[in-house]
Amino acid sequence: MPSVQEDLVRYGVKIAKARLVAGAGGNISARDGDTIWMKPSGFAMDEMAPGDLCGLDLATGEQTAGTNRPTSEYNMHLGVYRVRPEVTAVFHTHSPWASGVISSGVELKAMFAEFVNDLGRTGTVPYVTPTTQRLADRMAEFVKDHDTVFMVNHGVLAVGRNMKEAFFRCCVVEDAAKSLVAASAVGRPKFLTDDEVAEINSLDAVKFRARKMGEG
Ligand code: 13P
Ligand code: ZN
Repeated sequence: MPSVQEDLVRYGVKIAKARLVAGAGGNISARDGDTIWMKPSGFAMDEMAPGDLCGLDLATGEQTAGTNRPTSEYNMHLGVYRVRPEVTAVFHTHSPWASGVISSGVELKAMFAEFVNDLGRTGTVPYVTPTTQRLADRMAEFVKDHDTVFMVNHGVLAVGRNMKEAFFRCCVVEDAAKSLVAASAVGRPKFLTDDEVAEINSLDAVKFRARKMGEG
């Protein structure tokens, strides 16, 4: 069975391949007991080896493994795990389409069932300077009742019960943004109504799918 570090490296490559980040943008982490493994600062997602990752103690924030400096958003990652004990993965991307839509004043809303099925509870956080304790505090508060967060003038943060779930969320947000731009270019987007969303949420097929994603 691959280690948490090996899996995190594998997902870093997937995120880079899906073009959800450019250069050294974005950062990802995963929980292994009391240790949070994180991307090192200044590394691209697809240039990390397991030995490059930084291990931080969840309670103290002290670096207990790795010689690189952890991502500059390490406080944001730690803050999320501290308020969401069931979360084992936190992926933060600078997805170009999603970031553009999120920062346009137009709300990213459900046009398709996947948005409802896969993203959990979505919400938007106004701009806070990246890497600051203020951002970490704001996000820790917000993720208490949100799973996929749209960060204005910044990007996306998705939590997951496993890495797959956090990754799927990042992918679905980016596709939702592309679909919204496509709909706006050729006509007027038609979003799902509250009733349509409620019906999707009530379906057994949807509940099964959500359970399956949680299994990793
Ligand atoms: P790091 O290379 O320090 O992770 O910075 C990237 C980033 O996303 C800042 O918000
Ligand atoms: Zn960022």
